[in-house]
Amino acid sequence: MSRRPKIQKDTETLCNTLIHELQRFQHTHKSITTPDRVRLLVNAHHLLRDLGVSIAESDADSARQRILDYFLARPGQIIEGDELMVISGISEYARRVRELRIEHGWPIITGNSQITHENDGMEDDPISLKPDEYILLSVENDSTAVERWKLAKKIRNENISVREKIIKYFLANIGKPIPGDELDYLAKDRLEWPRRVRELRTQFGWNVVTKATGRPDLPVGVYVLESDRQAPEHDRNIKDSVRREVLRRDGYCCQDCRWSHNLWNKSDPRHLEVHHIIMHVQGGANTADNLITLCNICHDKRHINEKLL
Ligand SMILES: [Zn+2]
Ligand SMILES: [Zn+2]
Repeated sequence: MSRRPKIQKDTETLCNTLIHELQRFQHTHKSITTPDRVRLLVNAHHLLRDLGVSIAESDADSARQRILDYFLARPGQIIEGDELMVISGISEYARRVRELRIEHGWPIITGNSQITHENDGMEDDPISLKPDEYILLSVENDSTAVERWKLAKKIRNENISVREKIIKYFLANIGKPIPGDELDYLAKDRLEWPRRVRELRTQFGWNVVTKATGRPDLPVGVYVLESDRQAPEHDRNIKDSVRREVLRRDGYCCQDCRWSHNLWNKSDPRHLEVHHIIMHVQGGANTADNLITLCNICHDKRHINEKLL
């Protein structure tokens, strides 16, 4: 659509004019040429668009700002793309949302962040987003997000495997919540990255946690690498579903010292790990009854004691 004069914002007037235009169409469309019909509808289209903008609860002139204002009035709620189309008055609202996320650091997630649920993943998440649905996670934007995107762009173009890209990115952002969209961007491959993230956790022993795998306090669609250490070889290869069962059974709490994530602080940045009571090599199974939740400090102690025995 071509650029038009500043939008008339009075909803009532716009509505009446639109109805008038549609009535004109209704009465004349059988007796006029197709180009004339089209012209009548062009006008109605513009009016409908202006009508949407007029109800946007925002005085902003830019579509992007109207979109942001709409999100800010509804943090945590699912917003459909079509709603954004109406209040922004533009059809390419998805690009504006992306700019809000990347250039301005607004934590907006979409269905794309969540293709992680294959067979076991997110069953305890109350929401599951479609690709054209959005949620603003917080009314505060993350000023570090801009820097993160720059780094993501750099790593994205490196000549290394998707798994190496992802762990490299996580290691540069230890302890920081990373929205799945960023991993999706990094991997250039929508289908591959959730599997690679899972492998990093289960096979390689990196503590990459999500809402469903150890940190129920995290928003859905967000990933955190909790520390730069990999779990010992013998504590790897635990299925996500089993890990979740163990953590949930133990109340997300160290079974030796009762540490849990709400006690986290900078001077003592612990995290929870899952430990084999009877080691793999001694025939211990990867099942919940042979596993126990420990904080990394108590986990280390147990291993030291096992060596001494
Ligand atoms: Zn402990
Ligand atoms: Zn262990």
